[in-house]
Amino acid sequence: MHATPPTLPAVVRTGAAPMHGRLRLHVLASGSKGNCAIVESGQGLVMIDNGLSRKETRARMRELGLDEQLVRGVVVTHEHGDHTKGLGVWLRAFPAPLYASRGTLAARAATRDLAANEFDPGDQLELAGMRITAFSTSHDVENPVGLLIEGQNDAIGFMTDTGVMPAEAGRLLRGARILALESNHDPALLRHGPYPLSLQDRIASAQGHLSNEQSAEAARQLVTGATEQLVAMHISQENNRPSLAVRALAAGLDAELIDQLGTAAVRTRADGSTLSIRPAGQNRPLTVA
Ligand SMILES: [Zn+2]
Ligand SMILES: [Zn+2]
Repeated sequence: MHATPPTLPAVVRTGAAPMHGRLRLHVLASGSKGNCAIVESGQGLVMIDNGLSRKETRARMRELGLDEQLVRGVVVTHEHGDHTKGLGVWLRAFPAPLYASRGTLAARAATRDLAANEFDPGDQLELAGMRITAFSTSHDVENPVGLLIEGQNDAIGFMTDTGVMPAEAGRLLRGARILALESNHDPALLRHGPYPLSLQDRIASAQGHLSNEQSAEAARQLVTGATEQLVAMHISQENNRPSLAVRALAAGLDAELIDQLGTAAVRTRADGSTLSIRPAGQNRPLTVA
């Protein structure tokens, strides 16, 4: 057992293959100004969403040691511009199969003229040695999805842009080693923030975004002894703070804050294993291994 909470592992910056069988999650950007994440297996990369410029995507991939030629596919969670506005330019520069739900493809001008593989929630994709299962989320668009990404002996749960945690997510994501969960807003900051009332209501609705408290409740259901990493995603810059998101998750999971700013927390279990909690950012990429 550790006498003191260990520090979080350093950001991985090499392009070396992950430890055997393990997956990595790279969050290039997360938030309402642009989203892009990459999952890495020993056999390649899969991009999730692209709401960044090509230049920004490349710069952040390079910073994390990721090779754009190794992207085996791009999976889109839903049609909103912060998840899709970079897709067309990116795919013309670095062609790769595009996967999106039927509703996403029909709705979005940015994806309409791209050759794409349609899927429906519940479908499974096989990409770069990973099995990706899409499940329905609750958001104000047609057919939005979250994802379970499985490797040989590893799993990443990925869920953003949902007003509630769907029951299916509870079943699929429970016990994933890495959990990337939306912690969008602090309800008080949202209500006293700059957004018009109608937008506040949309965000707080069952088809909006998970608040810090809702995220903590979801995490309580999803985290098991097998979960090592919890990443707070899609944190609003107007209606939230990374420290508030981490504090809410830490409080829900009996984890201890490990820095003065409250932007990281860890829980050390009786068997010595740890659960680390940290925020993904809009402006700085993050690797979770
Ligand atoms: Zn979004
Ligand atoms: Zn959205």
